Amino acid sequence: MFATLSDRLTSTFKNLRTKGKLSEADIDATVREIRRALLDADVAVPVVRAFTGAVRERALSAEVSGALNPAQQVVKIVNDELVSILGGQNRPLRLAKTPPSVIMLAGLQGAGKTTLAGKLALHLRGQGHTPLLVAADLQRPNAVTQLEVVGQRAGVPVFAPHRGNQGSEDLSGIAGGDPVAVAREGLATARARQHDVVIVDTAGRLGVDADLMQQAADIRDAVSPDEILFVIDAMIGQDAVATAQAFAEGVDFTGVVLSKLDGDARGGAALSVASVTGRPILFASTGEKLTDFEVFHPDRMASRILD
Ligand code: GDP
Repeated sequence: MFATLSDRLTSTFKNLRTKGKLSEADIDATVREIRRALLDADVAVPVVRAFTGAVRERALSAEVSGALNPAQQVVKIVNDELVSILGGQNRPLRLAKTPPSVIMLAGLQGAGKTTLAGKLALHLRGQGHTPLLVAADLQRPNAVTQLEVVGQRAGVPVFAPHRGNQGSEDLSGIAGGDPVAVAREGLATARARQHDVVIVDTAGRLGVDADLMQQAADIRDAVSPDEILFVIDAMIGQDAVATAQAFAEGVDFTGVVLSKLDGDARGGAALSVASVTGRPILFASTGEKLTDFEVFHPDRMASRILD
């Protein structure tokens, strides 16, 4: 995903290697190249401005260190600032003290929510949890079936409106068209059956719209999630920031999942999302298989970019 950005930054640092001591002009030239590399990678302008400002200031005031040459010092500063815009430290998934924990997924259609629901369910199952998936995406005709397929692959039951609770209860009369009721019934079922985590998949639309936000907010209010994860397709480029801001206002999400990090888009907009919204990135999705899933560590991502 970040191959071009990575190459650009690495070659910038290469130019510094021959320098004994960095003058202010050297630092300014380097900061300019970093700025261009970040902008070309689609990193949001305010993020680039803050980033390069911090790098410049720290590079100018860097102590002459015995251990690091000037080039290494600049690399370290850029690394630290990358970690910082990516959220600093990993923030673990927040689970309720009294189960069931409720995790709600939100995002645009095609962002990768349903796939993520399966990945997260598998991940949690691997940690000894007993998740229940709830199909509250009733906009897309195929979404319920898709979640059922994903649940089957993950070995996790799915609560869906048309067949009720694993066939034992037909909710179609009660909740067939009402995603809020499905979410609420799903949570009640999880309590009754002692699932300790409920993952609620919600509808996405092609663009941000008021109805979508209201529906997501209504689902949120019905099930009081411990975590609202905003799933963002890292391939969508500059739109990522505006979309993230709209969802931050609309549903007040608590964490971010970057999906499709395996793609070859420029990816910088996704790098801006934590910084612009002030919400941490918890997970990354890196492919179509359920195991293509990682806990997000800002420091590891920064090292990968600067490798
Ligand atoms: P939803 O509409 O938000 O529920 O999105 P889906 O989960 O249906 O995903 C949309 C498409 O993106 C599907 O074809 C998925 O297989 C694909 N997809 C989801 N996550 C990833 C990922 O991390 N990498 C890649 N390459 N494809 C993904």
